[in-house]
Amino acid sequence: MTWETVIGLEIHVQLATKTKIFSGASTAFGAEPNTQACAVDLGLPGVLPVVNEEAINKAIMFGLGIDAEINKVNVFERKNYFYPDLPKGYQTTQLEKPIVGAGNVEITLKDGSTKTVRIHHAHLEEDAGKSLHEDYHGMSGIDLNRAGTPLIEIVTEPDMRNAEEAVAFAKKLHSIVTTLGICDGDMSQGSMRFDVNVSVRLKGQEELGTRTETKNLNSFKFMEAAILKEVERQIDLIEDDGKVIQETRLYNGDTGEARSMRSKEEANDYRYFPCPDLLPVVIEDSRLERLRSQLPEMPDAKKARFVSDFDLSEVDAEILSGDQATAAFFEAAAKTSGDAKLASNWVLGEVSKSLNASNIEIAESPVSADMLAGLIARIKDNTISGKIAKQVFEALWNGEGKDADEVIEKKGLKQVTDTGAIEAMIDEVLTANAQQVENYRAAPPEKRGKMIGFFVGQAMKASKGKANPGMVNQILKKKLDS
Ligand code: ADP
Ligand code: MG
Repeated sequence: MTWETVIGLEIHVQLATKTKIFSGASTAFGAEPNTQACAVDLGLPGVLPVVNEEAINKAIMFGLGIDAEINKVNVFERKNYFYPDLPKGYQTTQLEKPIVGAGNVEITLKDGSTKTVRIHHAHLEEDAGKSLHEDYHGMSGIDLNRAGTPLIEIVTEPDMRNAEEAVAFAKKLHSIVTTLGICDGDMSQGSMRFDVNVSVRLKGQEELGTRTETKNLNSFKFMEAAILKEVERQIDLIEDDGKVIQETRLYNGDTGEARSMRSKEEANDYRYFPCPDLLPVVIEDSRLERLRSQLPEMPDAKKARFVSDFDLSEVDAEILSGDQATAAFFEAAAKTSGDAKLASNWVLGEVSKSLNASNIEIAESPVSADMLAGLIARIKDNTISGKIAKQVFEALWNGEGKDADEVIEKKGLKQVTDTGAIEAMIDEVLTANAQQVENYRAAPPEKRGKMIGFFVGQAMKASKGKANPGMVNQILKKKLDS
């Protein structure tokens, strides 16, 4: 039997506002516990919440960014439940009238194909505090600093069919919200948290299978691992005559273990009702138009431009346009050097390899876009070969010079293009390898092409990589064939 996986995601995105969604308390990360929760965030008697205009604007920006419908009349509702990190006894959220309606997000898969994931809606809500279980023996610590931080919860249709699609979607969403500047995208600090709904069904079956929801995954890697594990668990269960029960599950990224948290039967009745303290927020057309005019170039548009203006492949353009800082770095290097193909190769190659190895962001790269452009210029004008360029790049990365020219000069890496010098070097190589020369000349012409590689290698080695490879090839051929 062949199974098909069905995945729908719910994503909590922290909006990058200075203050909370209904109070003036700071949203800054990392403060001493409980120093940034005010009376409104705690829902103390007598307080009145006031909606943060910026939170509304940022939620609208998301809707405009994915070309979704924006609901003009917004109502906030109370979702009632008890939990230690929610001292108000209710979360203020949206139910019937979410700010963002249906929209679409296009994803690109590794094989270059694209797929549309439908967004069901996105609603505004406040975050809860945090329960800390580790450092307090036999007790839990409660930090309410996060309480009242503005979130949008984005809900997709069950359109994804495997972990790769889910991760591609998650990355695309990350790229969209960071490009819009509505979220800092720092997943390690919980700025984006993914809940994955997973079910399986027989291929060809129309009806959806029973789903489980694994909550609060905060890295792409954990998300992929949690999905793969859950799909396997469900298939094993069904094939052993068992049944998937609808439940909420937890996945521990550090141990790779998953467990059930609560079943549907234990689910709360949230007794939603419109918050009597908050008036409906009406969004006027003038506000929509003003925000629309502030939209940056979105990742899809940027990608299309990279393909048409710079002749990049779809896959390369997708990666380079996915992150605002990477896109800007590439574009600057491409324009300054005048060679987009080389700029793309270097950003996707040495630059990203070095960033990964040093575990830093492109904004902190010790080799700037200008420095990379300078290096590319020296490859293009034949001052250095591509191979030597890697040495120069490494030196620049390690701070051994302010630009490529300085490194090339200091280390004497300038390519040898003097015909006389190359000829002398080749003569030495040919003398030292007389037997191979004889073999070459005795070989039929169709075999020589391959054999010449040996001499090129020897000559390049003799020049410590500095001889111009094209000239070496040409002169060798002339000498060997004569
Ligand atoms: P609820 O009303 O219980 O919150 P929703 O219908 O709103 O459920 O769906 C919540 C999320 O679960 C959505 O992202 C949706 O795409 C996804 N989902 C719903 N049913 C399934 C299913 N059978 N398999 C996988 N995902 C599903
Ligand atoms: Mg729902």
